[in-house]
Amino acid sequence: MLQPMSAAKPPAAPARALDLLIVGAGFGGLYMLHKARSMGLQALVLEAAPSVGGTWYHNRYPGARVDIQSMEYSYSFDEALQQEWRWTERYAGQPELLRYANHVADRFGLRDGILFDTRMQGAAFDEAAQQWVVRAADGRQWRTRFLVMASGPLSSPNRPDFPGLRDFAGPVFHTADWPHEPVDFSGQRVAVVGTGSSAVQAIPIIAQQAGELTVFQRTAAYAAPARNAPLDPDFEARIKADYANFRARNRRMHGGFGNLLPPNPVSALAATPAQREAAFEERWQVGGFAILGAFNDLLTSLESNALLAEFVRGKIRGTVSDAATAALLSPTHTIGCKRLCVDSGYYETFNRPNVRLVDVSQRPIERFDARGLHTGGRHHDFDALVLATGFDAMTGTMLRLDLRGRAGLSIQDKWRAGPLNYLGLGIAGFPNLFNIAGPGSTSAFTNVIVAIEHHVDWIAECIAHIDAQGHGTIEATEAAEAAWTEHVNAAARRTVFLSCNSWYLGANIPGKPRMFMPLADGFPRYADHCATVARKGYEGFVLQ
Ligand code: NAP
Repeated sequence: MLQPMSAAKPPAAPARALDLLIVGAGFGGLYMLHKARSMGLQALVLEAAPSVGGTWYHNRYPGARVDIQSMEYSYSFDEALQQEWRWTERYAGQPELLRYANHVADRFGLRDGILFDTRMQGAAFDEAAQQWVVRAADGRQWRTRFLVMASGPLSSPNRPDFPGLRDFAGPVFHTADWPHEPVDFSGQRVAVVGTGSSAVQAIPIIAQQAGELTVFQRTAAYAAPARNAPLDPDFEARIKADYANFRARNRRMHGGFGNLLPPNPVSALAATPAQREAAFEERWQVGGFAILGAFNDLLTSLESNALLAEFVRGKIRGTVSDAATAALLSPTHTIGCKRLCVDSGYYETFNRPNVRLVDVSQRPIERFDARGLHTGGRHHDFDALVLATGFDAMTGTMLRLDLRGRAGLSIQDKWRAGPLNYLGLGIAGFPNLFNIAGPGSTSAFTNVIVAIEHHVDWIAECIAHIDAQGHGTIEATEAAEAAWTEHVNAAARRTVFLSCNSWYLGANIPGKPRMFMPLADGFPRYADHCATVARKGYEGFVLQ
């Protein structure tokens, strides 16, 4: 239901009219800008940071590295780009990924279409003009026909409201907002809070530098070895010889990657214990997410999942020499339910004499003071604090905006019970607004560059259709939105993803509505669905 609101009379003095205003100059915004320009559209990007790169601009903590192979986690839209760019490692590190984003911005001449240091504050839909009026924090504003949110699913860091944190006398870092100057922990006592993907990458590096490292763990993490290495030139040449088909094969994979080692199409329950062990071991040696494809039901059957979970716990016991620490590091939840971490020496780090693990699962962090923190009846002293506490994922960035659709409907009211949307792309009540890689799409479960390219291409085709037909607006219907929300929920119910507290569910943020946000249906099925909607004249949307 649309709820009329009093606010949001659109400002009267538009600076200029655009076809497309894009929020964010990460991989989504860069490609959207390039695509829009190639169609002759007037487009502008607002970017809060001083440069391009999005995720890879901000997440520059020690050890930050992609968890999908570089040859797969890269743009496919330009053959010369994919042939000429050379990755140095199997899994690119953050500095290299940031160089890549900068290279793309320069190569395609995108910088003059981006306003840096310009944070979007809000936008209101002017129904009479059928335009969005977008405001920046500094008061500048733009009118645009279409508004594309390329602000990223993991772009609002989660900073838990720990009592007394402000009293802590040492420096406090967040992995997702890391300083641009080198941070030197040499000889220091460092504390890390959190053991998700960011922490799992940062901890081994920080441990090498710090005098002492204390890790505060609320939930133990499953991590599979990355087996990162310099990129093998023969492997690179083989893929580049047939890159277009390699990419096409990836687009037919459930997660938009991994066609080199497709999932085994057999249930873990159909295998003998010896066959299972061999299959798990083979994929453990390959590294990364390969292990989740050892059988076809590891993320859909709790029974099969438990077998893999026990295999990984066995690896932890075999790696960590202190039995009590190994037990604490051994997760008890379903594996993959929280995103599997991909590590380089994470569990081994707990064998170092300067590293300690503190369990805060039963007795949470109570309070900070100038010298450290208090938990479990004792005080822990340290000199520097690293919060690896993740993100207000998928909705956090949109909900921090003053975004108002028809009749002043605010996004906060619209999404009070969770992020309602249609195809992840449109929102009823918010015409001509598109969301890239947000809730309701396979984003979080997909090689995100595949997800981004798909969304950008779909949006571009949609705008071309609207213009060709002489329409002014496109808007999801509430009925299509309700059916899509049920579709997303139903897909989650067919998996193990509802069996733990994860950011997919909004469970990491106190008070956030519980709604399973990404679509767990697989990228190919989702892409087919979006294509069918378009082919049927944008079924489920109203074009006016
Ligand atoms: P995360 O997975 O949400 O992990 C946050 C960690 O902080 C969890 O261990 C969480 O414990 C803990 N935590 C949060 N609040 C806490 C509190 N009040 N007290 C104690 N512990 C608390 O965040 P992340 O590691 O930044 O990763 C988020 C996502 O970003 C990943 O799932 C992945 O999609 C992406 N990412 C990818 C890469 C990569 O490509 N290699 C690297 C980093 C991140 P609980 O589990 O108990 O909530």
